[in-house]
Amino acid sequence: MSETWVDLRSDTVTQPTAAMRAAMARAEVGDDVYGEDPTVNELEASLAQRLGFEAGLFLPTGTQSNLAALLTHCGRGDEYIAGQMAHTYRFEGGGAAVLGGIQPQPIPFAPDGTLDLRAVETVIKPADFHFARTRLLCLENTQGGKAIGADYFVLARELCDRRGLALHLDGARLFNAAIALGIDAREIARHCDSVSVCLSKGLGAPLGSVLLGRSEFVAQARRWRKVLGGGMRQAGVAAAAGLHALAHHVERLADDHRRAARLAESLTKLGLEVSCATNMVFVDAGVALPELTAHLEQRRIRIRGSRWVLHLDIDDTGVARIVEGVRDFGGLG
Ligand SMILES: *Cc1c(COP(=O)(O)O)cnc(C)c1O
Repeated sequence: MSETWVDLRSDTVTQPTAAMRAAMARAEVGDDVYGEDPTVNELEASLAQRLGFEAGLFLPTGTQSNLAALLTHCGRGDEYIAGQMAHTYRFEGGGAAVLGGIQPQPIPFAPDGTLDLRAVETVIKPADFHFARTRLLCLENTQGGKAIGADYFVLARELCDRRGLALHLDGARLFNAAIALGIDAREIARHCDSVSVCLSKGLGAPLGSVLLGRSEFVAQARRWRKVLGGGMRQAGVAAAAGLHALAHHVERLADDHRRAARLAESLTKLGLEVSCATNMVFVDAGVALPELTAHLEQRRIRIRGSRWVLHLDIDDTGVARIVEGVRDFGGLG
């Protein structure tokens, strides 16, 4: 039995590589609350430039990044439209409502991970004091692993302009989308007023997200970051990991996508109901899931539910071990 764990629970479980740790150790740092951390400043400026924005803001988590964006776009009594299963609605503890008096208007995601723009239009509230003020459309890319192309963002932008909404993108895995689509991430980002990118998912940094937007927007979000307790001091140590990830771990996301596709194909051959999108494989093990989970755990393979996520720390050998483990299980079908 191999020593190492193959951990499919999420792409957040990656360990910083030796090269990344070396970059962190080398990082020049200062007090970022005073704006004096050169590594944080470099990360913010370089990602802003890469995605076509005026400015960027380094935050400890994607949740805080999305929340700072919502608090900046919306005030008390305002509303944002988001997917029913969107991270900003479902998985962030209701932060916008708790801390900002901001009301969500969730609508279901279409099967391709977009929000139907006609449905968006129908939930925009009239300008009348009976209603919350609809201010913001919040999209996600990738959504459930699905990459959404630039064409959709052109249409979403057109709707937002016509109806006076701002457009925020929760681009936690924006680079997975861009790599899968074979386009520059800027081609998606350019249609949005703000974008949040996670460095701690497939990119493999231990922590950190960056929120991008216009200078004025980012200045206001910086104020909210402080309010939220996210003003960090010598944060360059963490930002250095992000810079390293952006320099070395973007193109390689294609490897995760290729391995996910191969894993899906092998599991399909074993008779499982499987679908695949970018670095995620969705496996329907039916009622056998608890037993399969325990069986794989014994083989040092960790799953949680039906979403199996490929990342930096799962190589071809890891994929072979997963297939082997499922084949051995035999309790399916
Ligand atoms: C992971 C994730 C976030 C942010 O999560 P944190 O754990 O707070 O960094 C936001 N949106 C999506 C779609 C995500 O997958």
